[in-house]
This record gives sequence, structure tokens and C-alpha cells, in this order.
Amino acid sequence: MNNDILKVLYSKEEIQAAVERLGKEIAQTYAGKTPVVVGVLKGAIFFMTDIARAVDSYMQIDFIDVSSYHGATESSGTVELLQDINTDIDGRDVLIVEDIVDTGRTLKFLLDTFADRGASSIKVCTLLDKPAGRAVDAESDFIGFKVPNEFVVGYGLDYDEKYRNLPYIGVLKPEIYTNN
Ligand code: 5GP
Repeated sequence: MNNDILKVLYSKEEIQAAVERLGKEIAQTYAGKTPVVVGVLKGAIFFMTDIARAVDSYMQIDFIDVSSYHGATESSGTVELLQDINTDIDGRDVLIVEDIVDTGRTLKFLLDTFADRGASSIKVCTLLDKPAGRAVDAESDFIGFKVPNEFVVGYGLDYDEKYRNLPYIGVLKPEIYTNN
């Protein structure tokens, strides 16, 4: 699997340092509160488990599964709710934990959905932000890294459901796409 990687963008150690920094920022923001922290499956799974343990604050955790990519490298433009949270968020502080914000469509869908359900506040923590890809207005409050407009894999992020278990974030060799 490592042989498919052209270059490493963020090492395991750099990711861990970003997680520690974000954990402190989030703990300060929610001091005295118990937010509902919602991880977006499957991409945010490793980030979610790391960030939750880096935040010294009470919290409830839940997961939501949405799909917008369908195994390709370009966004389809539609967002589908595959599996909902089972926490009542009416009147609650919600923190969405995302792997990457690209066009912003997935995030906009989640922000609208949680606002409709009466969340008293909604904030977003994303490991990666790709501002150049933005098609709709949906911004994050806590950002690990701003990434160039490249397709990245690892630490939860997939290409065709593979590479999620890489411990770092990298860019695939071009032949991996062309051979598929
Ligand atoms: P958006 O709705 O902002 O366009 O995209 C959000 C979702 O698209 C992310 O949660 C992620 O699953 C996928 N995505 C966007 N950019 C990338 C990328 O560079 N690599 C991978 N593996 N997935 C991406």
C-alpha cells in the first residue's frame, strides 16, 4: 500500500501535533458545556477518535454517514444521508468533526440539517480544508491544515474505499487512478 504513495503531505507526528492543538482550542471553546460531537463517517473516523481523546471536556459522541463522492475523485454535487445520528440535538451545542472540506456541499448539508433540528450552536472541526475547491459557503471553526487542491488519501481518507488505514496523509501516484 505504501508503494502507491507519491508523496507524504502530513506525517503521523504532524497530524498528532495538529490534533493536540485543536483539542486545546476545542476544550477552551466548550468549557463548562457538554457538546454533542458528531463524527462524519467514514473519512473522519480516525480523526474523531483522536480528537475526542485530546479534548479535556465532557462530551457526547455520535456518528453520521453521508455520501457525496461514490468512489470517484470528483464530487457528484448531491449529498445523501446514509445513517443518521440517534442523539436529540434540540437545544444542544453540536461540534461536527469532518475529515476534509472541499466543495463544502457535505458540510452545508450537515449545517442545514442540524440547524433545522434546533441545535443551539453548531461549530465545525475539520482536519483538512481545501479552500480552492469551495462551491458553496460552508466554513470551519477549527482547522488542522489548509491543503492544496490535490486529491489526498490516508488517516481515514479513501480512494475507492482503500488507503483509509494509512497512518499519514499523502498523494497517490497518478498511475493508481489511470489503472482503475
Ligand atoms: P465536499 O462535500 O466538501 O466537496 O466533500 C466532502 C467529502 O468529500 C469529504 O468528507 C471526503 O469524503 C470527500 N473528499 C473531498 N476531497 C477529498 C480528497 O482530497 N480526498 C479524499 N479521499 N476525499 C475527499
